[in-house]
Amino acid sequence: MSKVALAVLAHPDDAEFLCAGTLLRLHAEHGWAVHVATMTAGDCGSAEHTPDDISRIRRAEGAAACRAVGFTYHCLGVLDLRVRYGDEQLNTVCRLLHAVRPAAVFTHSPEDYHLDHEQTSTLVRAAAFAAPITNFLHRPGHSEAHPPLDAIPHLYYCDPLDGKDQFGRAVPPAMFVDISPVIDRKAAMLAEHESQRAWLRKHHGVDNLIDSMKAWSAQQGGRCGVAFAEGFRQHLGHSYPQNSVLRELLSAM
Ligand SMILES: [Zn+2]
Repeated sequence: MSKVALAVLAHPDDAEFLCAGTLLRLHAEHGWAVHVATMTAGDCGSAEHTPDDISRIRRAEGAAACRAVGFTYHCLGVLDLRVRYGDEQLNTVCRLLHAVRPAAVFTHSPEDYHLDHEQTSTLVRAAAFAAPITNFLHRPGHSEAHPPLDAIPHLYYCDPLDGKDQFGRAVPPAMFVDISPVIDRKAAMLAEHESQRAWLRKHHGVDNLIDSMKAWSAQQGGRCGVAFAEGFRQHLGHSYPQNSVLRELLSAM
């Protein structure tokens, strides 16, 4: 098993909200390499900048947040509100898996508030299944940069935003990772997303991005008896890995 984790999420700052604490622990305690990819550059996340300008700003913010903690950032170049399960985007995510070769992959909950999140979740689920299949991209007469994976990686779904689906129904995690030791580093990563503070105040009614991340992490922590936690569900369908690296390495509860 490689010691590599990959988070594939929809937008810049999603990882810093949903799973960065767990990624920080894998990196710090077990020496895992960590890659964070976003489907889009967040081109709609501004009321004052053009799409090109805010994309440039947010790519830089995502890269800076990762660089500060030794992670690698990738932007897959899809436009906001255009993340859709289909051949081209599936090939892109699958090629990222071939290049990064993760043992564990993190993505959005299949049920979430934003269709970009749900479509990203579907794309990543499909790419994790496709990545070891020789005939999927590696066709005769066509050369790929990287070989197929040896096996389907562990696949974890993060909590949906506010822990609920689009109907307001609770989506409880199957396991919690204690992120209390790294909550300040998680907050520091999120602080790199300076452009999103004003935008979220205007469009989402979120007064302070970092306070709301900490409040959510504290709420999940309260459900498992620690100060701060992140919640996950593992994809346990047929042929996906059945053991849990989060339980084995991070004592997920
Ligand atoms: Zn998002």
